[in-house]
Amino acid sequence: MYRTHTCGELRISNAGETVTLAGWVQRARKLGGMTFIDLRDRYGVTQLVVEADADPVLVETASSLGREFVLQVTGTVVERESKNAKMPTGDVEIRLEQIVVLNKSVTPPFTIEENSDGGEDIRAKYRYLDLRRPPLQRALALRHRLAQEVRTYLDSQGFMEIETPYLIKSTPEGARDFVVPSRMNPGQFYALPQSPQTFKQLLMVAGYDRYFQIVRCFRDEDLRADRQPEFTQIDCEMSFVEQEDVLNMFEGMMRQMFKNAVGVDIPNPLPRMSWYDAMDYYGSDKPDIRFGMKIHEITSLAQGHGFGVFDSVPYVGAICADGLGSYTRKQVDELTEWVKRPQVGAKGLVYIRVNEDGSLKSSVDKFFSPEDLAAIAGALEAKKGDLILVLCGEKRKTQTQLGVLRIELGNRLGYRDPKVFAPLWIVDFPLLEWSEEDGRFYAMHHPFTAPKPEHEAWFYSDKKEDLERVCANAYDFVLNGTELGGGSIRIHNADMQARMFEVLGIGKEEAEYKFGFIINAFKFGAPPHGGLAFGFDRVCALFGGQETIRDYIAFPKNNQGRDVMIDSPSLIDEAQMQELCIVSTVPAET
Ligand code: ASP
Repeated sequence: MYRTHTCGELRISNAGETVTLAGWVQRARKLGGMTFIDLRDRYGVTQLVVEADADPVLVETASSLGREFVLQVTGTVVERESKNAKMPTGDVEIRLEQIVVLNKSVTPPFTIEENSDGGEDIRAKYRYLDLRRPPLQRALALRHRLAQEVRTYLDSQGFMEIETPYLIKSTPEGARDFVVPSRMNPGQFYALPQSPQTFKQLLMVAGYDRYFQIVRCFRDEDLRADRQPEFTQIDCEMSFVEQEDVLNMFEGMMRQMFKNAVGVDIPNPLPRMSWYDAMDYYGSDKPDIRFGMKIHEITSLAQGHGFGVFDSVPYVGAICADGLGSYTRKQVDELTEWVKRPQVGAKGLVYIRVNEDGSLKSSVDKFFSPEDLAAIAGALEAKKGDLILVLCGEKRKTQTQLGVLRIELGNRLGYRDPKVFAPLWIVDFPLLEWSEEDGRFYAMHHPFTAPKPEHEAWFYSDKKEDLERVCANAYDFVLNGTELGGGSIRIHNADMQARMFEVLGIGKEEAEYKFGFIINAFKFGAPPHGGLAFGFDRVCALFGGQETIRDYIAFPKNNQGRDVMIDSPSLIDEAQMQELCIVSTVPAET
């Protein structure tokens, strides 16, 4: 037996016992004639001590230890003289009788402790060392717990976990596909799934009415902190359901995950908001409702006062930041520059300050009388000491800009505590999105999403304005300003699916080539069905109170999509290229 206990287990109640531990040397230090060693495994750290008068061989071994040596040690649990209340094992130490060095280690390139001295790049290169650190161990433990909660909940609801293939044909989720050349079919390629969307729908046709899978998905997109080229979804589908059934089922799953993994009770039922309200009041389809500061349209109050900037646009909107009336002129100027950055894209910023004496001061005093300003302040329910910020322009664009400003101010005002959870459903999305650039419609979710039954007439209309009005039977699960998941009730009828492809400008031939299998399957008694998928990496990160998902993935890629530990992607040799009938157009490096 290598060990009797883990390094996180021993307490004062074990005093007097002879124990054997195995783990890594986090630190070894000499104090007088004694050697203290912190031994670590994924359960914790235990202090070991070799007394000055111990067996000289033992003293010698103890003094030869380096960081990250792997040891097996045997000794007696004793009460510590100076206890460490911060460590669960801090009341005891092990007085050693034996040390077996199971393996040596070269000096690690950074300290492997709660906080490391290593930069991001070096830690990525030695990910297996970084993974020894407690914060990453906690992150992966949380991920494991959440995955177990998903499985027990869905199993208890009669869901079957079914795997779907990775080598498939392109599935449209709006991103680029990763492709894999087929040696046996020269010149032909598989695509890696962006999601198992079509397969889970085929499982519904096959009669497996409650399906789920914790599954890897692949999207060749530009990366950001919260994106990875391969990521994990909790993918689910159900037959014979309406939107209400799906929302209730997965609210239940989330409720259990919150309760059992982080001990948080979320509201029952969860709030729901239409996409239109989310855009109008929060300037985002993933509103952070941990705080107010809602957007107000003030177009009618703002126009007709001779201020050309407001008078020449279709929309004027404002938010009221409480307490920011104390902002100095310089701070307001800085905020103005902030909204003009390309990431926000506003042309300028108008402010109205409610002074402590109740009087109003604005950057448009020339055009607006105190009464005009008071009317705006009244519409926003502004109080003394508040700062009203106004943007204008095209409606949705301006709302989005106000939404971004709202989040920034929420951060500055400390309203976005990661330990506070405010989940909600966004419902009633538009089915289609018109792209001016491409002169065509795109599916807001994906082409398998059904229109709301009451909007079907518009869906079959040829008029652009009718199609723009069609709402989808679609829903997103949003937490703290992040979309954690989404799905829809699907089209289950071949004619309607064909109409959808037509609306999206996908010709009959192309539809047949890309989606013939699903159109065909729908001819064989496809049941009404719907589902959704959660981005599991993001779920883990947000439950853990973090913004970036990388810590919650054992072996993530960097911002360039590279795994710097295994140095991938990389070239393959000429013979492999030939076998796959591939010719590189990139000039060989000399
Ligand atoms: N396949 C969709 C996605 O990956 C989710 C769904 O509609 O079930 O976003």
